[in-house]
Amino acid sequence: MDKFIGYRCSICNAEYLPRQVTYTCPQDGGNLDVVLDYETLRQKYQPEDLSSRHDSSLWRYLPLLPVGDPGGEGTPLRVVGGTPVFGLPHLAEPLGLGHLWLKDESRNPTASFKDRASAVVVARAGEVGAQVIVTASTGNAGAALAGMAAAVGQRAVIFAPRLAPPAKVAQLLVFGAKVILVDGTYDDAFDLTVRAADEFGWYCRNTGYNPFTAEGKKTAAFEIWGWWARASQSDENLHRARLTVFVPVGDGNIISGIHKGFKDLQTLGWQEQMPRLIGVQAEGSAAIANAFQAGNEQIVPVSAATIADSISVDLPRDGVRAVRASRETGGTYIKVSDTDILAAIAELGRAGIFAEPAGAAAYAGLVQAVEQRLVAPGDPVLVLNTGSGLKDVKAAMQAVPEAPVIEPTLEAVKKIL
Ligand SMILES: *Cc1c(COP(=O)(O)O)cnc(C)c1O
Ligand SMILES: [Zn+2]
Repeated sequence: MDKFIGYRCSICNAEYLPRQVTYTCPQDGGNLDVVLDYETLRQKYQPEDLSSRHDSSLWRYLPLLPVGDPGGEGTPLRVVGGTPVFGLPHLAEPLGLGHLWLKDESRNPTASFKDRASAVVVARAGEVGAQVIVTASTGNAGAALAGMAAAVGQRAVIFAPRLAPPAKVAQLLVFGAKVILVDGTYDDAFDLTVRAADEFGWYCRNTGYNPFTAEGKKTAAFEIWGWWARASQSDENLHRARLTVFVPVGDGNIISGIHKGFKDLQTLGWQEQMPRLIGVQAEGSAAIANAFQAGNEQIVPVSAATIADSISVDLPRDGVRAVRASRETGGTYIKVSDTDILAAIAELGRAGIFAEPAGAAAYAGLVQAVEQRLVAPGDPVLVLNTGSGLKDVKAAMQAVPEAPVIEPTLEAVKKIL
């Protein structure tokens, strides 16, 4: 069945057939939404058909993805997604919240949310016969592409800014990608990647450029939907409640992808209530939050500066859809400082969760939302942790006090206790 029937431009609404375009709208450069054959899908499947599939990875939702089965059984490609949701009662209490959970995306094969996008892009690359896949990345998208490509023997080229955290660069190199460090920002690397892909005929994965990244990222919405159906069924207080989801935002592709996933479910008639999406940006990299707060969709570039490298972006490439994700779901945008982010790393750590700065930003946003009464005590809340603290150990060490160094004597121990 050909469930993938084309694209629709998010700016001018022009429709294209799958073969007509590859990346963005030829008329205005707008991001393209993948259009599925919802009518046929609705006739062919019931929600239970998906929830009862044995696969716990994102491939469980293959019927709703615009790709065929990519193969790669037994490799890391097959275990992307299916991430755990943890309850956070000890953090919920001081915030005065009754129901707080965290979906931990750091448990993906390369330790970030980006594996979802890269898995689906690698599947697409196989279908279009790509020899090489290239991406610009501050680290995680590249590590995810390098890891997923390595898993299936595909070649990958990664352009990263020279100042990317070393752990992320190490991942790229260990996965055997061709790594090129650009003496410039992520935005410089982005533009260079588009030109290189054009010049050498490579398939470009760039976030907010390749329409398949959002399709991979939407699988998190499917998982949240499946989890919430079970969680709200087993608790009377949650029956009619509306879920609020906190998402860290850089380019805006994760929040757009999650919104797309929920919209797919809505179009299929499988979801009663659209969850509320709250985007969280770093104060020093807040082009999307600025547009949201100005009440328009004009994304004005900033000169980004934040400790959260994964959401440090001058010109977000998926800003318009990201603004809409919050606006159309009754959500909002919140800006957090680097100090808030570091505090959130420490808070989450005390619940057994090790988040990189961008991942912790979502929780920092929740703390602020509670202070501003944007979240009521009874609201069920899900926070996304998008990446592992091991990705940026230098930032983690700034979030916590140093450990004391002592002489190896009991006396010395007594002195510091
Ligand atoms: C990429 C990334 C984000 C932000 O995703 P966007 O699609 O750029 O908005 C957040 N957290 C982590 C850890 C990431 O790697
Ligand atoms: Zn267009």
